[in-house]
Amino acid sequence: MKRKDTPEEAAFRSEARSWLDANAELRRGEGDWSNGPRVHTHEAEAEYFDRCRTWQRTKFDGGWACIAWPRKYGGRGGSAAQEIIYAQEEAAFDVTSGFLPASISLMGPALMRHGNEAQRERFLTPLQRGDEVWCQLFSEPEAGSDLAALRTRAELVDGEFIVNGQKLWTTSAQFADYGFLLARSNPDVPKHAGISFLLVDMSDPGVDVRPLPTCKGDRHFNEVFFTDVRIPVSNVVGEIDGGWAVAKTTLANESMAIGSGRRGRDTTAALVRFARDRGRWSDPLTRQRVATAYTQERVLGFLQDKLQQALLDGRSPDVDGSVMKVLWSETRSLKAEIGLDIQGAEGLLFGGDAFDRGFWQELVLDRPMGSIGGGTHEVHRNGIGERALGLPREPRVDREVAFRDLKTSMDGGTSK
Ligand SMILES: Cc1cc2nc3c(=O)[nH]c(=O)nc-3n(C[C@H](O)[C@H](O)[C@H](O)COP(=O)(O)OP(=O)(O)OC[C@H]3O[C@@H](n4cnc5c(N)ncnc54)[C@H](O)[C@@H]3O)c2cc1C
Repeated sequence: MKRKDTPEEAAFRSEARSWLDANAELRRGEGDWSNGPRVHTHEAEAEYFDRCRTWQRTKFDGGWACIAWPRKYGGRGGSAAQEIIYAQEEAAFDVTSGFLPASISLMGPALMRHGNEAQRERFLTPLQRGDEVWCQLFSEPEAGSDLAALRTRAELVDGEFIVNGQKLWTTSAQFADYGFLLARSNPDVPKHAGISFLLVDMSDPGVDVRPLPTCKGDRHFNEVFFTDVRIPVSNVVGEIDGGWAVAKTTLANESMAIGSGRRGRDTTAALVRFARDRGRWSDPLTRQRVATAYTQERVLGFLQDKLQQALLDGRSPDVDGSVMKVLWSETRSLKAEIGLDIQGAEGLLFGGDAFDRGFWQELVLDRPMGSIGGGTHEVHRNGIGERALGLPREPRVDREVAFRDLKTSMDGGTSK
């Protein structure tokens, strides 16, 4: 059963709704700009990004950006309950800050928990307002699910780190002013124990961002190369070599944020409209599959309510983020397949030639994003198995071995 607002929460909800009424348009449906750019040129993506940033600034200036953050760091000094209430109200409006909230929710808690006062004062307010945009420099060609296998080196020389190496799949690095980087600062200890969490200025001449267009043509991914990039020790978050603890704080928020996404054009309601338009709504198989997708969508909604309820009650969820992330992306994938099947042979068309400008085709091509980004399904399922079902942990043979002595596939021998 849905929880009823307390009188204070009801007053807050009404204040949020009034502010939104004055500053935003209600969602209309499929033509909403907040659904993302319809074409994937650099210009269209840059324009969408600017619009997202403008909305983030409007929110910050109105006092609604990071409601639960302390006032001294630019927040509202409110509660987690208020943050949820605001998000519930905002969902009715045609607004989005795009990927900015993701980087804010990864970086903010990490800085508040592990950063020092000078770092919090310097970075937290421009982060929230979108004045400084951040990217996550974690994954590498040989370090994704096994992130602690990362090889980008950070050598401490005369009070600064010199960084060399490569990152991969960095979302929106082309728009980023700063990146939070995991680098190997000590190869002589086991792999989790020799990593530092560094803040890097993306305008440094040693940082080279190269776009990685996806098969559908969008350009949010990049490879990032570092050549002798100098980072002052004052830009280490947490302890030198203690970056794994900071990374865990950022990763804990990621899957939950992904699994919570259930707005946009890929709803079963949109699918029903599409099936009707294409004359396929009387087909029993289509109806049956749409019913399955609808059921999953509803279950996801209930899970989100349950998670919000836990947060409102001050309980910290355990594997709920993983469960939601897996179900969200499986449901999205099923809807994409149905949307394609409804079109029959015309599903082979793409872009402007296709129905609905190829929206469902794009969703099919997008499926790996959901099942890989923020941790793959297999890895999340491992976590659910171990932590929720009590299954045996995966065997780990590298816990006591210095990183330098581990075998890797890249050098055919050890990671020296
Ligand atoms: C949309 C999107 C956005 C992203 N944004 C960023 C970003 O901004 N910054 C960043 O640093 N990274 C980002 N990534 C990268 C992402 O974190 C990695 O792709 C992910 O962690 C998987 O790593 P990998 O690609 O190296 O695959 P691998 O880890 O090599 O996995 C390959 C396959 O092996 C399976 N596998 C691996 N280990 C296990 C295991 N223990 N048990 C069972 N199966 C296993 C995997 O499930 C997968 O099927 C993004 C990825 C996507 C798709």
